[in-house]
Amino acid sequence: MNAVAVSTDFAGRVMHNEPMSRHTSWHVGGPAETYFEPRDAEDLVAFLRALPTDVSVHWIGLGSNVLVRDGGLRGVVISVHGALDGLERLNEAQVWCEAGVACARLAKQCVKWGLGPAEFFAGIPGTLGGALAMNAGAFGGETWRHVLEVETIDRQGVRRKRPAAEFRVGYRSVIAPGEEGYLAARLVFEHRPEAHQDEIRDLLARRKQSQPIGAWSGGSTFTNPPGDHAARLIDSAGLKGYRIGGASVSNKHANFFINEGEATARDLEELIKHVQRTVEQVHGVHLEPEVRIMGEPA
Ligand SMILES: Cc1cc2nc3c(=O)[nH]c(=O)nc-3n(C[C@H](O)[C@H](O)[C@H](O)COP(=O)(O)OP(=O)(O)OC[C@H]3O[C@@H](n4cnc5c(N)ncnc54)[C@H](O)[C@@H]3O)c2cc1C
Repeated sequence: MNAVAVSTDFAGRVMHNEPMSRHTSWHVGGPAETYFEPRDAEDLVAFLRALPTDVSVHWIGLGSNVLVRDGGLRGVVISVHGALDGLERLNEAQVWCEAGVACARLAKQCVKWGLGPAEFFAGIPGTLGGALAMNAGAFGGETWRHVLEVETIDRQGVRRKRPAAEFRVGYRSVIAPGEEGYLAARLVFEHRPEAHQDEIRDLLARRKQSQPIGAWSGGSTFTNPPGDHAARLIDSAGLKGYRIGGASVSNKHANFFINEGEATARDLEELIKHVQRTVEQVHGVHLEPEVRIMGEPA
C-alpha cells in the first residue's frame, strides 16, 4: 500500500505499512497504510488538522475486538493507548479516565479508591476507548452505565464534551451522534469501601475456567441472541473444534475462535461465516458478529 502523505508538524510516532497483526489480539491483519500514535490530545489535534480530508481514519485500542482483513487498512489508524493514559478521581464518586487507559488498570484503581462496581472491567483486555465504542461489559456490569460524559474528537481535530444522553446505548452497541473518536470519559461509581482486590482475582479465575485465556482470540465472536447464548448454539450445532486453515472454534468456549498460530484473517472470517450459516440451518437463529471486521481482503 502507498503511504498517506502526512505533515510532520506533530510529535507522535508515524509508521507506514505497519502490520496490524502486531496490534490485534488475534495476531492477524494486513498493513495499515499509516499508523499514528499521538503523544497527547493536542498532538492528535495537530495531526488531524493537517490530514488531507479524503484520508479515512480508523480508531484502534488494544485490538481485542477487531478482525482486520489480510489486505490491511487504507488511510490512517490512530492508536491512543500509551498516550491518553490519564486517570484521576474528581470527587467522592466520579473519575476522569482517558481513552488509552487499559480497562484492567481502571478496575484496579477504582478498587483502591473504594469505588465500584468496576471489577468487571478487570478481565476486558482492551482500552477505555474500545469499551466506550463497544459498551463492553461482563458479569452484569456494563461500561455506559457509568458514563456521565465523554470527550470526543472529530475528523477535523475539534474536541467536544458530550453528555451520555446524546448516545443511544444497548447491548454491545453504541450509536454516537457523530463520527468521532473517544478521548476520555467522566465516569461515576458508587462509594464501596468494601470493594476488594480479591473480587478481581475471583472474576479472573472464573474467566480462566470457562475461556481459553492466553490463546490468540478476539473474545466473544458473536453477541448473544435474546434469551440464549451464542456459545450454547454453536456447541449444540456440533461446531466445537471445527477448523478452517489455522483458525478453530475453541473446545473450551464455543464463542471464542482461535488463531492456532498460522491463521489468516480470511481463515477467521470464513470460520465466522461457516458458523453463522450452520447455526442458522440447525437452530434458525441468526448470530450477529460482536467483533468488528474491517479492512480490505488480500
Ligand atoms: C480474551 C478476551 C476476552 C474478552 N472479554 C470481553 C468481555 O468480557 N466483555 C466484553 O464486552 N468484551 C470482551 N472482549 C472484547 C474486547 O476486549 C472489548 O470489546 C474491548 O472493549 C475492546 O477494546 P479495545 O481497546 O481492544 O478496542 P479495539 O478492539 O481496538 O476496537 C474495538 C472497536 O472500538 C473502536 N475504538 C477503539 N478505540 C476507540 C477510540 N478511542 N475512539 C473511538 N473508537 C474506538 C474501534 O474502532 C473498534 O470499532 C474480550 C476480548 C478478548 C480477546
